[in-house]
Amino acid sequence: MSDNQSDEPREECGVFGVYGVDEAQLHIHRGLFSLQHRGQEGAGIVISDGEKIRSAKGLGLVNEVFNSETLGRLKGHIGIGHTRYSTTGSTRIQNVQPLVVECVDGLWAVAHNGNLVNASKIRRMYQDSGAIFQTSTDSEVLVHLLADPLFRSRPQRVARALGELSGAFAFLVMTKDCLIAARDPNGFRPLSIGRLGDGYVFASETCALSQVGAEYMRDVCPGEMVIVDAAGMRCSRFTDEGEHASAQCIFEVVYFARPDSCVFGKNAHMARVKYGMRLAEEYPVEADIVIPVPDSGNSAALGFSRGSGIPLDFGYIRNHYVGRTFIMPQQDARATGVDMKLSVLPEVVRGKRVVVVDDSIVRGTTMQHRIKRLRDVGASEVHVRVSCPAIRNPCYYGIDFPTQEELIAGLDRPIDEIRESIGADSLGYLSLDGLFIPFDGRKQDFCSACFTGNYPTSTEHICGKEELESRVSELQLNL
Ligand code: SF4
Repeated sequence: MSDNQSDEPREECGVFGVYGVDEAQLHIHRGLFSLQHRGQEGAGIVISDGEKIRSAKGLGLVNEVFNSETLGRLKGHIGIGHTRYSTTGSTRIQNVQPLVVECVDGLWAVAHNGNLVNASKIRRMYQDSGAIFQTSTDSEVLVHLLADPLFRSRPQRVARALGELSGAFAFLVMTKDCLIAARDPNGFRPLSIGRLGDGYVFASETCALSQVGAEYMRDVCPGEMVIVDAAGMRCSRFTDEGEHASAQCIFEVVYFARPDSCVFGKNAHMARVKYGMRLAEEYPVEADIVIPVPDSGNSAALGFSRGSGIPLDFGYIRNHYVGRTFIMPQQDARATGVDMKLSVLPEVVRGKRVVVVDDSIVRGTTMQHRIKRLRDVGASEVHVRVSCPAIRNPCYYGIDFPTQEELIAGLDRPIDEIRESIGADSLGYLSLDGLFIPFDGRKQDFCSACFTGNYPTSTEHICGKEELESRVSELQLNL
């Protein structure tokens, strides 16, 4: 069973790097704030002044981990930062990134967004030859590859190490005088490059570039490695072009990216408005108001309202202070149906035929409670529209969906059964074709495996979230 007990999908991480900018630590701190939505379990920053590398990391939100005193100790002009949500490995300080290790030629720091599908295999290979792992994350295998005598002689060393990996990765790798950004050959996760004065900035999302005043240059290409050092910026490939199919994660567009980010070349808000407009065409309904499930359903609800001509209103109000810090025991939450995140505005929905627009439905339990609450305060009809197709399969590339059995649409469950189970009068999911409308229908550039089951990589050596963790416990028990 996945750790994700919530009805919302979870992202795994955000990365942010700076080269050639004074007070790099302050820019990284601000950049990580902008990427907080991608992970709230821990955060870390590693900084170099060209001579010394210093790092600070901890469990919690960015503003819980860093204060002015910590940042004051991290002075330099090169650095990388990370916000973590674990899709592989548990919530413990050893797993918080960036990982910093000492190799024969100095210190290396690594920050990773994504999920490596062959991490388990590589880890076993190194363990068999005597290597010791400090964390239960998939990311640590890159560190071992970098330290491997086979791969020494930088920068080919990094390229060769990256070439061994399969799955999803946006990596930032740093030494005391060099920063390297790399994106996996399928391009699952986004990674952008920005210019800040004479320096460079790398970020999982463009909203973080804007936050520090950097000008967006371009995305790191799938299979590309961008190196920045005293000689400037240069690029090379670590896999041959065309060797891997493009498989950018369409779910980044549906849900994860902040609305003000451009992801895979399109603004997330504008793409979601298009999804809503298309949904209104595909599943028209006679109703009095459209209400979003805030915040993730806001843009699509606006699109549905525009497309259908049904007025938009706010029937749910989000409590922005409920998040990681309010943990209700799951049994309690499920038994009582208490939804601390959203409250209902009876004055808006009473006596109305309501269309609820959300970005996705994962387990369905939360949606079921939310629909019931609309009926409890007097909504006469509740129609649900979802701005992506039904999620029927788990993700192996860094999005923490539950198992197929736990997904409400898993195991090919018919839509009408799902509708009945959540208690809606009607239910409409965006079609697969509709998902690619913002990209001129270029389905072939994207991964949509959670909807279709067509995984773009081999799933033979897939490493589950708990797999590396359970091995650590097993080893501890055997001591
Ligand atoms: S399976 Fe779904 S969530 Fe995972 S990478 Fe593919 S599109 Fe994204």
